[in-house]
Amino acid sequence: MTEPRHQEVQDAAAGLPALPPAEELDRALRDATPTEIIAAALQAVGRERLALVSSFGTESAALLKLAADVDPAIPVVFLDTGWLFEETLAYRDELIARLGLRDVRSIKPLEQTLSREDPDRELWFSDPDACCRIRKVEPLNRALAPFSAWINGRKRFQGGARAEIPIVEADGGRLKFNPLANISPEDIAGIYASAGLPPHPLVASGYLSVGCMPCTSRTTPDEDSRAGRWRGRAKTECGIHTVKAS
Ligand code: SF4
Repeated sequence: MTEPRHQEVQDAAAGLPALPPAEELDRALRDATPTEIIAAALQAVGRERLALVSSFGTESAALLKLAADVDPAIPVVFLDTGWLFEETLAYRDELIARLGLRDVRSIKPLEQTLSREDPDRELWFSDPDACCRIRKVEPLNRALAPFSAWINGRKRFQGGARAEIPIVEADGGRLKFNPLANISPEDIAGIYASAGLPPHPLVASGYLSVGCMPCTSRTTPDEDSRAGRWRGRAKTECGIHTVKAS
């Protein structure tokens, strides 16, 4: 018999209904549009139990726009690592106003963790996995504690570990929805164009993907969009998608 996961135990203790199986939802939504997938996530768990996680990066406005059209009050979790570009923080504020997002939660790492594990702010260089753990993975786990499901913006066309992502997957005891899994770069550009969405301010300077300042560089035209992340390192993901949430 499979042991119930931490989140399932919490939900049961709170009297919340059990989550539908991820495989069943994935099968049902395999050919659904991103909007249909977001609506299905909302229907599956309800707004109180659903969060969207966004980096407010170069393609983020597309998912945020689609989610705002479904329900602008869906909680949005933004990981403010302490190493973000000022332009990203300004873009977050611009999109909140533009899309009428009503519940954006900017989550920071715990001060005591930073002073204990990264007092000199050099961990990004000496041990980027540990840096991502204390600045992204742990804060995300904390932010997702009240939720039973989350939505994120990964696309299969981004390649690497993302090439095979399903529409819905189990993430620890939570459901994880990937509404943009199936779409193309052209689809994203189409959403920006039809909704008149502003580009991230750093796109004009040659950044195709934007994360933390020390770990983001410009890309050349022959590179894929994530080539500028952790350049020169074996690392390709920060851990929030490769470490299962507890
Ligand atoms: S992306 Fe870089 S600076 Fe940001 S948390 Fe990870 S290692 Fe640290």
